[in-house]
Amino acid sequence: MENKDYYKILGVSKNANEEEIKKAYRKVAMQYHPDRNPGVHEAENKFKAASEAYEVLRDPQKREIYDQYGIEGLRGTGFTGFRGFEDIFSTFGDIFEGFFGFGTSPGRRTRARQGADLRYDLKISFYDAAFGKEEEIEIPRRGTCESCQGTGAQPGTSAVHCPQCKGTGQILRSQGFFTISTTCGQCQGQGKYNPHPCKECHGSGRVRETKKIKIKVPPGVDSGSKLRIRGEGEEGERGGSPGDLFIFLFVEPHEFFIRDGDDIVCRIPISFSQAALGGQIEIPTLNGKKNVSIPKGTENNEMIKIKGEGFPRIRGYGRGDLIAQIFIKTPKNLTKRQEEILRELEEISQKREKEGDGWRKILRFEA
Ligand SMILES: [Zn+2]
Ligand SMILES: [Zn+2]
Repeated sequence: MENKDYYKILGVSKNANEEEIKKAYRKVAMQYHPDRNPGVHEAENKFKAASEAYEVLRDPQKREIYDQYGIEGLRGTGFTGFRGFEDIFSTFGDIFEGFFGFGTSPGRRTRARQGADLRYDLKISFYDAAFGKEEEIEIPRRGTCESCQGTGAQPGTSAVHCPQCKGTGQILRSQGFFTISTTCGQCQGQGKYNPHPCKECHGSGRVRETKKIKIKVPPGVDSGSKLRIRGEGEEGERGGSPGDLFIFLFVEPHEFFIRDGDDIVCRIPISFSQAALGGQIEIPTLNGKKNVSIPKGTENNEMIKIKGEGFPRIRGYGRGDLIAQIFIKTPKNLTKRQEEILRELEEISQKREKEGDGWRKILRFEA
């Protein structure tokens, strides 16, 4: 590594910003790209020199060391420059990507990776499913380590090219006629590794954290409903977008109401005299008790529909209904007085049936 002026090589001023440096490198790199200048030794050297200059100047830490102490200073930190084209492409592959279709590297380390989606199971009450709910939930996830800003390197240090694989992330081994490529164990295929891993995250750049998120459960949801909250999954890597958070809902059963689609079904007991006489009965709904009149002679299992007292339709307008199924209780543990009345009632009923219509009369004719 001879002494070179990195700024001159890229043709930028000493106080050029990150964007200017990147632009300048792209320009020089495209001009001297080996695919465009096959076999031209001078172009190769210029391409390598420009890549090295960019590698230093794009990194604020390295740039500072270089500005103060020159290349000698960089060497002291373990900086070795690039070993070859493969090394350059696997580091700067994203710069060449989509340009002329060349220079893309197999190095996945330069690719942005989207964060993972997360699943959270949330139990809500029957009532909350009907009316909706706002809730703050705590999501355990992996977030960026604040100590090292996700680089994995102890603050004040930075990653160096992996000497084992020369920054390619792959180790090539010859076996007879074959060359077998395996992921480098030293850097786990990243091409770089941290000689001084961050103490907070042990070099992973990620820490376990708990994030509080306010969510809105819309009215009308049911068990199995999923809420998707965009961007609240795990954070992406290397500039990748974050994943999504999926909330799986479980609605607790109600002791009295049963859900049937958007309708609510319940069973209402009435006495047999109420069934015979008709009148007002009280039916509980999600909005409180409602008085409903039933006709004289209501039968067992008859349905009474109360419009609009079901669940809001999550797709569409309006609400379902409340369907009350009547069941007639047979009176038990009668008092003497009740028994007297019932016996009297029975006598009258028998008399009426002998005189008039009813199945006893029909049976007599048949006999
Ligand atoms: Zn390696
Ligand atoms: Zn860290």
